[in-house]
Amino acid sequence: MLQHYPYRHIDRTRLHAIRQLDPATEFAQVSGQVISFEVVGQKSGRRLVAQLRDNTGQLELTWFQGLNWVQKMLHVGRPCLVYGRISFFNGRPQMVHPELEWIDPNQPVIRNFLEPIYSTTEKLKAKGLGGKAIGKLTRQLFAQIREKDLPENLPASILQQQELITRWSAFQQIHFPTDASHFEAAVHRIKFEELFLAQLRMNLLRIQRHQHSKGVVFDRVGDAFNTFYNQHLPFELTGAQKRVIKEIRTDLGSGRQMNRLLQGDVGSGKTMVAVLIMLLAIDNGYQSCLMAPTEILSRQHYDTIQPLLEKVGVRVGLLTGSTKAAARKKILAELLSGELSILIGTHALIEEAVQFQRLGLAIIDEQHRFGVAQRAQLQKKAAIPPHVLVMTATPIPRTLAMTAYGDLDYSVIDEMPPGRKPVKTVHRYENRRIQVMEFVRCEIDKGRQVYIIFPLIEESAKLDYENLMKGYEQVKSWLPEPRYWISMVHGKQPADVKETNMRRFVEGDTQIMVSTTVIEVGVNVPNASVMVIESSEKFGLSQLHQLRGRVGRGAEQSYCILMTGSALGADARERLAIMTATNNGFEIAEKDLALRGPGDIEGTRQSGALNLKLASLIQDRDLLLLAQSAAQQLAEQDSELTAPENQSLRQYLQQRVGPIRWSRIA
Ligand code: ADP
Ligand code: MG
Repeated sequence: MLQHYPYRHIDRTRLHAIRQLDPATEFAQVSGQVISFEVVGQKSGRRLVAQLRDNTGQLELTWFQGLNWVQKMLHVGRPCLVYGRISFFNGRPQMVHPELEWIDPNQPVIRNFLEPIYSTTEKLKAKGLGGKAIGKLTRQLFAQIREKDLPENLPASILQQQELITRWSAFQQIHFPTDASHFEAAVHRIKFEELFLAQLRMNLLRIQRHQHSKGVVFDRVGDAFNTFYNQHLPFELTGAQKRVIKEIRTDLGSGRQMNRLLQGDVGSGKTMVAVLIMLLAIDNGYQSCLMAPTEILSRQHYDTIQPLLEKVGVRVGLLTGSTKAAARKKILAELLSGELSILIGTHALIEEAVQFQRLGLAIIDEQHRFGVAQRAQLQKKAAIPPHVLVMTATPIPRTLAMTAYGDLDYSVIDEMPPGRKPVKTVHRYENRRIQVMEFVRCEIDKGRQVYIIFPLIEESAKLDYENLMKGYEQVKSWLPEPRYWISMVHGKQPADVKETNMRRFVEGDTQIMVSTTVIEVGVNVPNASVMVIESSEKFGLSQLHQLRGRVGRGAEQSYCILMTGSALGADARERLAIMTATNNGFEIAEKDLALRGPGDIEGTRQSGALNLKLASLIQDRDLLLLAQSAAQQLAEQDSELTAPENQSLRQYLQQRVGPIRWSRIA
């Protein structure tokens, strides 16, 4: 209950005179008498309008709902107190749906507190627990507890250094603030605590893991790696790929379990890094698995990796939900006997029945689609927990990465393979439709393939669907069968239909892919060179960037065409300008952060695990940085929290942290 924080306070400490209200007044409390009221308007415009008068002027009160009830409640001439948001209409002040309370004119109406208002639900309201009633209960609760019930959990040095009020007064003041500045101090303290504790836990886990965890040691570089590297590597590695492999090898040789996040923009070549470390595992006598979030992606990995490794005599298997029973049985047997060195697949890999002879390395591609619990399953597959490498193409600004994945070590591929032609991105208004479709036709006639993406507006699945269908028909009329063939993929299709349509495009049977954003994150069709994004103003920056990453994978010049109508908001205009100006995912992520403010940056959804109720990783960025460095410093100085001044912190964390050691599972 204490952590059910109020979402606003009503200022009961002052009374406004009606004459003094002006357009700058946000909320006001006015004491007066209703002098008249009547119902006016028709149908949806029907409303109850009352006039309230004090000694200085007249204020209009309006209700659109519950007219009968309000009408019965109102008494002309009886003193009352109203509170609400002030708006001005024709130069006169108004209050819509005010809170109204009858008062005794002989009692003072001014209270000495800010009254907290809480979010609630219809069901709670029906039981008498409205937004204000919760406040009454909270007040009762505070009457029954003492400071010792809410002991300080931060060390004194940090309170002092960060100028924070105590935990006890923070809780009191956030519910029942003495004034606005006390409220601010309470919010600040609680936000800091949330961010600090989240960071501290991550830092402690990482440091403790470095000190204690046991991992299998991969210290040999043997035949598999060397032969492949020297004779079969299809290209020279980029500097960034080499550096990352070196970082990973340090982990693998350290005797500790690796838990590393590998970030690299779409197309930066993460797969080859995965292949090379899997070869290292083989040289040290261990098996590896490579997990991808979907069937298509798993198969694509298999189709790339299997032929490469066949050349060095390494056996690779593929296991997905649709692997037939007989094949599955064979794979499971070979896995257990150790004949299979590498297993690629979907979630099917972590099922109970999948037993390895000696699993030493687990690689997870496009991790944000995997749940934490699913990754935990992995740990059970070997006596010593396997090394874990999590690969993601979602660019996250470094500060956020450190927060959301602070317990992981972190590598970045920040360089693209050479010779890549940057995707040319343009913004086109609807009135250029003819030229755009002509261009698309031209590219297809040259043998290329094209994506046409429609937005998914979550409020109305039905509308989206109709939009997509209309779009499909339109595309079909521009590019008719039998010369042009279209695959369509959307969220309403059964999985196997989606799969088939996708495959037809991947295999080049169709030249056009019409789809909503269900299109797979990592899907690789090098021959696809044009990405048309319809109503592109409706997409977020990082989503646009991910979509654009589907093209520019082959030798041909690729294009991304951002279509919009003519009416564009300032934000949309800016997003489109950024997209046409840069191809750099990290730059885009930073811009996204700056533009979007609150909201959910792709890839940090996991921050739910951080248990932030009040603090926002984005809005409270400055505080986050402070908390980050304080937490890091403390974790480095006292990683076991044995110092006397850290005992309250230690106790608090012990109470909070469950039995599962998430640190071991990325
Ligand atoms: P991602 O990081 O998005 O998973 P991939 O591993 O699929 O990227 O690589 C994208 C493409 O770049 C692949 O076709 C791959 O063969 C190629 N590639 C990767 N590394 C290099 C390199 N060092 N030089 C040239 N091409 C490379
Ligand atoms: Mg990939």
